[in-house]
Amino acid sequence: MRAADIGGVHIKYLHHCERQLWLFARGFRPEFLSAAVQLGEAVHETSYRRDSPVDLGAAQLDHLDGAHWVHEVKSSNRPSDADRAQVVHYCFRLHEIGVPAAGGILKYPKTRRTEKVVYGPAEQEQAVADIDRALAVAHQSRPPSRRARSACRGCGYFDYCWSE
Ligand code: SF4
Repeated sequence: MRAADIGGVHIKYLHHCERQLWLFARGFRPEFLSAAVQLGEAVHETSYRRDSPVDLGAAQLDHLDGAHWVHEVKSSNRPSDADRAQVVHYCFRLHEIGVPAAGGILKYPKTRRTEKVVYGPAEQEQAVADIDRALAVAHQSRPPSRRARSACRGCGYFDYCWSE
């Protein structure tokens, strides 16, 4: 895996759980069976159908507006560090291809919340550091430890991690 292969989902998982990132980077995809993820997709499809996704190769963002703000729709109730890091990663990838992304707008339809993340030099540094960290985790020979069970609620890998 190379830096160019790291996408927004890798970065989101890095901030949520290193073990989740490690499994995802190895092709484990149990989250497609998860009710939580299916709900997320349903919220996404019914709430913001007018937006079209933007394909950046490894990264796929929901929508980029005319003022270069990245719009991301989330199924959770409130913003998290993982959501912020993911949108910062998208801005970084856009700058790499010459699009001057201004930042991200995170939307939470379930609670009608919105959060703006401005992209600047500190966020650029964070994006570079996150890609390095994600690569280091993905290349570990052993899976990182599980999080506390209480932090795993809703994770698509729950059955895999806790079935023994
Ligand atoms: S179930 Fe818990 S330990 Fe396993 S990947 Fe998900 S958050 Fe990490």
